[in-house]
Amino acid sequence: MKLADRVSALTPSTTLAITAKAKELKAAGHDVIGLGAGEPDFNTPQHIMDAAVNAMNAGQTKYTPAGGLAELKKEIISKFERDQGIAYKPGEVIVCSGAKHALYTLFQVLLNEGDEVIIPAPYWVSYPEQVKLADGVPVYVEASEENQFKLTPEQLKEAITEKTKAVIINSPSNPTGMLYTKEELEALGQICLEHDVLIVSDEIYEKLIYGTHKHVSIAELSEELKNQTIIINGVSKSHSMTGWRIGYAAGNEQIIKAMTNLASHSTSNPTSIAQYASIAAYAGSQEPVEEMRKAFEERLNIIYDKLVAIPGISCLKPQGAFYLFPNAKQAAEMTGFASVDEFVEALLEKEKVAIVPGSGFGSPDNVRLSYATSLDVIEAALERIERFVKENS
Ligand code: PLP
Repeated sequence: MKLADRVSALTPSTTLAITAKAKELKAAGHDVIGLGAGEPDFNTPQHIMDAAVNAMNAGQTKYTPAGGLAELKKEIISKFERDQGIAYKPGEVIVCSGAKHALYTLFQVLLNEGDEVIIPAPYWVSYPEQVKLADGVPVYVEASEENQFKLTPEQLKEAITEKTKAVIINSPSNPTGMLYTKEELEALGQICLEHDVLIVSDEIYEKLIYGTHKHVSIAELSEELKNQTIIINGVSKSHSMTGWRIGYAAGNEQIIKAMTNLASHSTSNPTSIAQYASIAAYAGSQEPVEEMRKAFEERLNIIYDKLVAIPGISCLKPQGAFYLFPNAKQAAEMTGFASVDEFVEALLEKEKVAIVPGSGFGSPDNVRLSYATSLDVIEAALERIERFVKENS
């Protein structure tokens, strides 16, 4: 059977590929350490799970409105008021089956064939594929390590053409952990307003911020920028709810309406029970969110110094999310590999440590390590990486 052209060009997620290989080795009896995970290692807080059970017992197991339960939208709107000081109307919010699906639906309603979306590299692996699935063209802009892997106003200006429809800002970033400052966002926002470029602001890691850094949403900077931005967020990373599949988009009513129409013909609605759980996530105490954040920060502070002490490895200190994105080019060279990809492969083969090569994120000199796993495990992994580099140099 000949499949559609649109899927033949699809590349599988690098993150999932390395996780699959690690699982394979584990199943064969090897002692594998996986640092590929893209999800918090904590359980979903108990009160959220209780809300799901209560919803089931109360018979809330039927279709919901396509764009999400009114009560959940109300909680999401309160969250935006609380955290960003932005006032959205229910018609400006759609609940989807995860932030990933919110992005997918957005690109489907936004793009015509050939429309361009500017994607700063390093980028989250799904952005380019989702843009291509909507017949759009990803336009990559290499954000330099010197500028903390962030897009500059000059780079943005240069990348804009007549076909530019949107730019993606992911702050804090997966994979780099970097955050845009208010001033940086103001400068980028101004250019987007001048050229009528929609800002897709992926804020899924908003609650995981470290040190003195602050999360700023570009949409909170002015009414004009609010209208020029679609915010993407969800409960997956903040409330350790990756499996529940609840994310959302907020912004221009016409776009949200089109997304809701499309959802009505694709998913019908996000899972009812997960929506009730998400109401509890936002209506209840946010203490568990802060506890998880603190745990990530503690880990980061311990492992960062150990990571940068490994010969041939350098790394910007992450400001948010739960990833380290070190440059491993020198380590690969020292150990006789032609590329960081090969270095990563050999590390898995020899030391049984699974990390994700940066090539999948559009940054071939780097690797991504997730610290969404226990401190013991990360420390053991770092010891193995250090041994690998030292023994093979
Ligand atoms: N955006 C970024 C940058 C992510 O890293 C992820 C998950 O890895 C998502 C969106 C998707 O989150 P969700 O689990 O809500 O679909």
